[in-house]
Amino acid sequence: MLSQKMVELGSKKSTIREIFEFGKKRAEIVGKEKVYDFSIGNPNVPAPVSVKSAILDILENENPTSIHGYTSAQGDDNVRSTLAESINKRFGTKFTKANLYMTVGAAASINICFKALANEGDEFITFAPFFPEYKCFVEGVGGKLVIVSAKIEDFQINFDEFEKKINDKTKAVIVNSPNNPSGVVYSEETILKLVAILEQKSIEYGHAIYLISDEPYREIAYDGTDVPYLTKYYKNTFVCYSYSKSLSLPGERIGYIVVSNEMEHFTDAYAAICGGGRVLGFVNAPSLFQKVVAKCSDETADISIYEKNRNLLYEGLIKMGYKCVKPQGAFYLFPQSLEPDAKAFCEKAKEYDLLLVSGDDFGCPGHVRISYCVQTEQIINALPIFEKLAKDYKA
Ligand code: PLP
Repeated sequence: MLSQKMVELGSKKSTIREIFEFGKKRAEIVGKEKVYDFSIGNPNVPAPVSVKSAILDILENENPTSIHGYTSAQGDDNVRSTLAESINKRFGTKFTKANLYMTVGAAASINICFKALANEGDEFITFAPFFPEYKCFVEGVGGKLVIVSAKIEDFQINFDEFEKKINDKTKAVIVNSPNNPSGVVYSEETILKLVAILEQKSIEYGHAIYLISDEPYREIAYDGTDVPYLTKYYKNTFVCYSYSKSLSLPGERIGYIVVSNEMEHFTDAYAAICGGGRVLGFVNAPSLFQKVVAKCSDETADISIYEKNRNLLYEGLIKMGYKCVKPQGAFYLFPQSLEPDAKAFCEKAKEYDLLLVSGDDFGCPGHVRISYCVQTEQIINALPIFEKLAKDYKA
């Protein structure tokens, strides 16, 4: 007998993937340029040239058995040291290789953290709108995902509801900033308020409540917006990082976990991360790409293209009467749908081959996600379509 839960998860595509596949089929029929696909968060900006140079340099100059061989389960020592130095330089932290565990991207980083923390029945809190995969990740380790509804005025944290939902079964809180799908960056004020509650509740319940920072979009922030580095605010923090977005390497599956050096029982916490990685088979992230990211640790893809897209789309939609919190990061816009049922709104948009994702999937009904990591030309061509759609609702 198979696990029915896994059969279900494996047979149902995520809504985002379904829309993306629909877009590919429509493109075959009406032509690619007539399909305005804003469904998926696949970076359209190429990786910087330094990535190609690093790959060539490694292939030319390093020993092939080392390039393609096993590293330590937690990743190559030199790579982890280099990345720790890069993080320290940028955020004023004091990490060494002993704080880092290399992973196959943020999805693995998050899964390992959940595995490292969860005992049967534990609760993990997240704030809507949130990355939908958290639910199956948490349930996969026998935990329960508790969702705090969105504060739709600014997509910061709904603290009143958070304080009602946190309890002695709460093992950890997972945050994602810059956020997918809202694009919002949590302010320092929000972070300070969050950690004050976590500290107080940890004392009240007599056990640590951990903070997991899922931050694949950390470097994608605009207008000089500061993205607070959370280990500096809260000792019991795990940082889940990925190069999928910042270096445009989603298919290479590379990232890391930072275990804060001030974490309670640090040695055990790091061991639990290694144990989680071991159980899930997330050991020895790809050797070649460990070396590549170490060589490119201070670089990013050309983020200015996303900023240009954001400005064009945000300003265009606001002029047409759409209501939207201005995002300061990531590459998503999350406006209100023009009818209360966002799924119905997405269906209507689909009639124009305008492909959007309903906010229901992110725990935030009445909104739609527009993923603008696309060619700027697609945005220019799509704006009149958004306008037509808006007019349909005015008529
Ligand atoms: N977390 C968030 C918020 C994301 O948006 C994504 C991917 O889109 C991930 C995690 C997974 O990232 P990765 O491709 O590095 O596994």
